[in-house]
Amino acid sequence: MVRITALRYHGAAMRLLFLVSVFLCLLSFSLVARSEKHSSVRYQLIYSAPEGPSVHVRIELPGAAAAPRTLLIPRAVPMGYADEPYDQFVGNVAAFDAAGKSLAVTRGDGPRWRVGPAARVEYDVDLARMEQMILDGTDSSRVRPGYVSLLGYSVFGFIEDAENLPVELHIEAPKGWPVFSTLAPAGGTLRAPNFYALADSQMILGTGANITSVHYPREKDVPLALALYSEAPIDQARVERLAGEALAAIIQYFDGADPAPFPHYTVLLEFLKPLSEKHSYGFGMEHMESFHAAMAAGDADPARFSDVGLRYHIAHHAAHAWIPKRCSSEGYFPFSWDHSPPIDTIWFSEGFAQYAAIAALATTEEHRQQMLDRRFRSALRESPPGMRRMSLRDLSLLASTQYAADFRIGRLTFSRGGLMAAEMDDRIRAQSHGQKSLRDALRHLIAWSAQNQRPFRVDELPVRFREATGVETRDILDRWLAPLD
Ligand SMILES: [Zn+2]
Repeated sequence: MVRITALRYHGAAMRLLFLVSVFLCLLSFSLVARSEKHSSVRYQLIYSAPEGPSVHVRIELPGAAAAPRTLLIPRAVPMGYADEPYDQFVGNVAAFDAAGKSLAVTRGDGPRWRVGPAARVEYDVDLARMEQMILDGTDSSRVRPGYVSLLGYSVFGFIEDAENLPVELHIEAPKGWPVFSTLAPAGGTLRAPNFYALADSQMILGTGANITSVHYPREKDVPLALALYSEAPIDQARVERLAGEALAAIIQYFDGADPAPFPHYTVLLEFLKPLSEKHSYGFGMEHMESFHAAMAAGDADPARFSDVGLRYHIAHHAAHAWIPKRCSSEGYFPFSWDHSPPIDTIWFSEGFAQYAAIAALATTEEHRQQMLDRRFRSALRESPPGMRRMSLRDLSLLASTQYAADFRIGRLTFSRGGLMAAEMDDRIRAQSHGQKSLRDALRHLIAWSAQNQRPFRVDELPVRFREATGVETRDILDRWLAPLD
């Protein structure tokens, strides 16, 4: 009896204890959830009418404003090396305080709006006008029947001083339309650690695109999504195969069997009929965990854009997820959204990343030499004397805003960097008797960047490379930085 009573008493006490602990757990969970909710910026993207020309964006800030706030819309693309006036397509900017009261909004200088002590800001983005006005197809969002593709930086602005807060994104599409975001290719809550990561993401609404999970050798480490929209017949299986081969080769080059620095990757390719004669297609844009490109419809044909070309195109841009997205010199982070920043190391970001893609894909030494010749040496042969006489630093500063606008500038910048990388690789391999290569030097520099969380200085490059390989490369660096003639 006693024993049973004691057990009963014990059981009741345990139940009480259990209930109390459940209650405390729920309380602390709700406090954490609430504080998370309150410390992140909530973005809502609303596309309500199929084929409608615009999207509506709503930004809700955590907490009340202590001072008047400013809305900023990007006028530059990270790694775009040109200005793009996305603020021109923004209209109906409205601001509200924490109580929901409407506030006065005035246009400021540059791509800015003064929105008072706003807790919420809303605006529309005219996607149809954006596509008409922005002539580089890769820099624009677009609407087609049953299909909307959106580049983060072309539609999302931010409230100044809130750009480092975590972001939660909600997307509303017309009924029955699937929604895809590179932030979570497999679905689920859309979160970004800050505005940069949100701006760096892409979204696809509707059934117009084919979105597939690519089967490739590293799919367990890094699930690869292919989002394909084509206005010409296209062999989807071929593009999947090339995307998988390209990403696997780049992961192998930078990380070997180690994990890649991103949890998933997306290749987003559009093959488009030109909007006008002035519009151009073909450039690619790299991101933290994706690559997107607006190609010409004719490029869907392998006779015009070969396997070798498309595989390299994807590998080159995937390599940028390491260089410069996670390892760069000054000017890349934090990014200046008001205008394209002057950067004097584009030769590294473009040249070394493209060299990495060549080294990763080349199957033989002869193949590597062919690629170096086609991609880099030909650009040197064809370069105008004025650009040859510029130092690589000055050429890079020029390329900061004119990289693609006059592609002779971009091409010579990356080619001089790429040949510098090739010469360093040759020396490291020769002097280490094949034990080391530039790959070891770059892996060390990327690890150093992750650890130090700061841009490297150019004069530090040979130091980092020597640490990794024991080989001196400073004279190669100095010679390639100097004018060619
Ligand atoms: Zn590039």
